[in-house]
Amino acid sequence: MIKYRLICKNCDLSFDSWFASSLEYDKLKKKNFLICHNCNSKKIEKNLMAPVLLNKSKNEKNLKFKDVEKKIKEYQKFIKNNFDYVGKNFAYEARSIHYDKKKKEKGIYGTASKEEIKELKEEGINVENIPWIEDKNN
Ligand SMILES: [Zn+2]
Repeated sequence: MIKYRLICKNCDLSFDSWFASSLEYDKLKKKNFLICHNCNSKKIEKNLMAPVLLNKSKNEKNLKFKDVEKKIKEYQKFIKNNFDYVGKNFAYEARSIHYDKKKKEKGIYGTASKEEIKELKEEGINVENIPWIEDKNN
């Protein structure tokens, strides 16, 4: 089983859903079986966060994961300090910087769907998808 954080592109609702595999997710998505339970929209996308399942019996790997997690968090801190957060406007902002040659010293970061990132790359815009861990303060 794999857990994905899904996001509704119509009403911005984000929710977790379990799938047998990533293939099953792709299948359901293709058949338009993924429906937002809030607004019934079929514009459901996987959130950028990758699901991670820790195996209880492999402690050494869990420790290594914690190491990597720490590094990702340091990386995130660097990005937060040095890049401007544009949220869901990422694709729009990235294009305006690229096409309008808008002068911006800082880079930007935010959220974008897989399709948006693919499109930006096809337009020759230098974007990268990076691992991101959401801060959980509860
Ligand atoms: Zn919705």
